[in-house]
Amino acid sequence: MPDTVPSTTRGTRPRLGSTVLGYPRIGPDRELKRAVERYWRGDIGAAELRAIAASLRAATRAELRDGGLGSVPGNTFSFYDQMLDAALTVGAVPTRFAGLAAGDPLDLLFAMARGAAGAPALEMTKWFDTNYHYLVPEIGPGTRFRLADRTPVTDFLEGRRQGITTRPVLVGPVTFLLLSKAADGAPDGFAPLDLLDSLLDVYARLLTELSGAGAEWVQLDEPAFAADRTPAELAALRRAYDRLGGLADRPGLLVAGYFGPLGDALPVLANAPIDAIALDLVAGTADVDTAGALTGLRDKTVLAGVVEGRNVWRTDPDGALSRAATLLGTAGRVEIATSCSLLHVPYDASRETGLDADLRERLAFAREKVAEVVLLGRALDGEDVTAELVEARVRAARPAGRDDRVRARLDALGPDHYRRAAGDVRAKAQADTLRLPPVPTTTIGSFPQNADIRTDRAAHRAGRIDDSEYERRMRAEIERVVRLQEDIGLDVLVHGEPERNDMVQYFAEHLGGFATTAHGWVQSYGSRCVRPPVLHSDVSRPEPMTVGWSTYAQSLTSRPMKAMLTGPVTILAWSFVRDDQPLGDTARQVGLALRDEVRDLEAAGLRIVQVDEPALRELLPLRAADQPAYLEWAIDSFRLVTGGVSDSTQVHTHLCYSEFGEVVGAIDGLDADVTTVEAARSRMEVLSELGSGVPRALGPGVYDVHSPEVPSQASIALLLRAALDQIGPQRLWANPDCGLKTRGEAEAVETLRNLVAAAAVVREAG
Ligand code: GLN
Ligand code: ZN
Repeated sequence: MPDTVPSTTRGTRPRLGSTVLGYPRIGPDRELKRAVERYWRGDIGAAELRAIAASLRAATRAELRDGGLGSVPGNTFSFYDQMLDAALTVGAVPTRFAGLAAGDPLDLLFAMARGAAGAPALEMTKWFDTNYHYLVPEIGPGTRFRLADRTPVTDFLEGRRQGITTRPVLVGPVTFLLLSKAADGAPDGFAPLDLLDSLLDVYARLLTELSGAGAEWVQLDEPAFAADRTPAELAALRRAYDRLGGLADRPGLLVAGYFGPLGDALPVLANAPIDAIALDLVAGTADVDTAGALTGLRDKTVLAGVVEGRNVWRTDPDGALSRAATLLGTAGRVEIATSCSLLHVPYDASRETGLDADLRERLAFAREKVAEVVLLGRALDGEDVTAELVEARVRAARPAGRDDRVRARLDALGPDHYRRAAGDVRAKAQADTLRLPPVPTTTIGSFPQNADIRTDRAAHRAGRIDDSEYERRMRAEIERVVRLQEDIGLDVLVHGEPERNDMVQYFAEHLGGFATTAHGWVQSYGSRCVRPPVLHSDVSRPEPMTVGWSTYAQSLTSRPMKAMLTGPVTILAWSFVRDDQPLGDTARQVGLALRDEVRDLEAAGLRIVQVDEPALRELLPLRAADQPAYLEWAIDSFRLVTGGVSDSTQVHTHLCYSEFGEVVGAIDGLDADVTTVEAARSRMEVLSELGSGVPRALGPGVYDVHSPEVPSQASIALLLRAALDQIGPQRLWANPDCGLKTRGEAEAVETLRNLVAAAAVVREAG
């Protein structure tokens, strides 16, 4: 099939115009979440769900067109996830779902997302370094790509009927394969990228159909190239766009890189026969410097991604325009865009009327960002928008709240504030005071949260029950959980965290410098949405946050009670964070506030403190060159929290995963006395990595808290013995993989009894 034409037919495309790379799809009031969950429960049928989805799509298109964008992105909607949609489009459906292929496509989609009888769901993982999670396509040598689903085309036609010509957004073919995993049973050495050519056949077909339907532009997202890539992967990128760019009947091709500089991929794209490239000029400003030398950009449009797509602050118009303007001599044309899709921010800051007015002025959510893009686009075109620019400048320049006391205290810190005595000295002091048996048993913090607790918290929030009644109910729950743990026979107890809706939000609500929004929802995965707190000013701790609950819990028992805090990195990772100073500086402010909390806990008699850092690996920069600097401040902020405690106070940390790779050294750097990690699902595999890398005590999880199954005493003992062989009885702890918050009470209690019994058996034999 001859599908190449000389490049002379290019250059007649309509102008692309200013644009956003993507938009939220859950609806301003989470309409999609509600509709999808009602469909899952059987409360509405597929037709009604589809109708709600269509009205959300129509509203988004109209809003973006009416907002004045030069080009309106299309296909930004998804019932669950765009990677899953891409897999369905190209027919990458694992054989275990084959039985559903004949039914309603919605059922196949949701089965792949959530699992069906006998067919476990696709694996889910984080979308680069954001808090969005995608489903991981499974590709094997037997995968036969075909244009199996035409949603991008029908979405385009739907827009046409509405009178809006959109620019369909697709996951780029190379990123699609790089983010996929080899299907189970694929031979060693097989990589999904091996199938690039046959995938390109399908993309070629899809582009041709879109062109036939009237699409003038199509956007192909290739964020995988914001991470380090091998020469072979860069060659695949070249092959892909030589092929797609050479198609005879195709729309204009915009290839978008985001979440960092494209680096070595930029010259590849500059030389490819495509029409436009979107650069992330917030996280990837380095590309501006290399772009100047790339003559291949001269016949292309470059989208200058100067409006940050994944944070919530107003754009400084002068900085943005000057960054865009540096490309003017280089690119054929320059247009303004967001740095990435707006999927990662909430809809509308103007609705946050409960916020301090000054803070609200500083915020830009998706709607405000569209207006920023349009304004900057007009300015770049030479329109006279002086008055609007003045206003934008004033808003962007509003300063963060400053706390000189916090700053002075941080300035006065010296190296000793980050240091503790040698590990063996501490171990001896702790053994003397805590008197724990070998292989001590504990949990990670939260206990099952029943409906009563949630209702109580909500009632308190809404003012239906007063502080003292709330405190009475929470204390009753804490007492119940303490008695339960004593009865089970655990060695180190927890208070169960009933007062926490969320491990970050709880602290955000108690620290100065944070705000919480009323409508600021963003999609985390599928129908799950989160409302990240906004860290907007210097951080302080007006008063103790956890001391009351933890001391009460300790007063109920003679066993050691473990106090529970969330670490600085995790608090930052799950919030929108001010961007007017380095993240490390903000992390140290959070660290200082938590340090005060730890000191108060210690003074109140708590002898064990756990500082959770489940997001330590999540924030790891995509490029290896940026990782050491990140790890340095991440470790510093943790050690600032814990560095002031006495030798006999035992510091625990908890990390939520089992693959550490580049962060093993960092875990050692945290210098915690006990580190608990997820390990049950990988059957203690983690110890080969951590056992030698982290010299202090380890609690590899022996209970997979994501499963309703109750592991037997024998199976737990087996895991503990395997761990014992590797690290010995002096360093081993017995605990679940993570908190028990989402488990049912009965199954959790039964498992903990098995865990305690298994530890006793292993201890005796050990
Ligand atoms: N202490 C928290 C809990 O048990 C830890 C949660 C987490 O690691 N994500 O719920
Ligand atoms: Zn965890």
